[in-house]
Amino acid sequence: MKVIGLLGGMSWESSIEYYRIVNERVRDRLGGLHSAHCVLYSVDFAAIERMQAAGHWTEAAAVLRDAARALVRAGAEIIVLCTNTMHKVADDLGVPILHIADTTAAAVRGAGLTRVGLLGTAFTMEQDFYTGRLARHGLDVLVPEAEDRAVVHRIIYEELVLGVVREDSRQAYRAVMARLIERGAQGVILGCTEIELLIGQADSPVPVFPTTRLHAELAVDLALGLVDDGGAESLISVRGPDFR
Ligand code: GLU
Repeated sequence: MKVIGLLGGMSWESSIEYYRIVNERVRDRLGGLHSAHCVLYSVDFAAIERMQAAGHWTEAAAVLRDAARALVRAGAEIIVLCTNTMHKVADDLGVPILHIADTTAAAVRGAGLTRVGLLGTAFTMEQDFYTGRLARHGLDVLVPEAEDRAVVHRIIYEELVLGVVREDSRQAYRAVMARLIERGAQGVILGCTEIELLIGQADSPVPVFPTTRLHAELAVDLALGLVDDGGAESLISVRGPDFR
């Protein structure tokens, strides 16, 4: 089993989910007392959030680069950046990572869908680092209208990253998803690692793609050698030899 390195804390509410899911996946795959061989480096999200809001992405990248290197020094062989938004600086981390958008795009394509709605932070919904990457996998990405994007973003930063789960916010997300479906979305990407705390498949008439679960499960399947990390479209950002 390869060692999984979780670069988390963004927020820790979703890092817990990553930790739980990688362990459950290993248990389900190997049975018995097996659990994930993993290392977690968790940052202070307040600092990261300030850098995001100020547009100080180079500074944020430096923090994550140090963390990624620490994970590698600790033995991590597969690096998992436990946030969609911070994949904005994925290319600046200095180590290969299992890219969350590639993982998600592969799941959407695997389900036979191409036109898909995207929920996430404003950064994720509005910037090319994420929507462009999905598009390069052949996906037609629909994002909510401006007013809906503001609601989705606000609920993430004011509630979900603090572990606050409210019924009225769930209803708000359901309404946003309904409008995406009306515009032709065949599925909806839950493109923020805390959204799964609020909504799931039961909240949507079309398939949802929970990025935390998809990312964590693929990391385990890679760690166990259950998928080929050479050719699969979903794994284009994973390169074995330079992990150390
Ligand atoms: N975890 C969230 C995401 O997946 C948002 C928090 C962050 O900005 O990293 O985008």
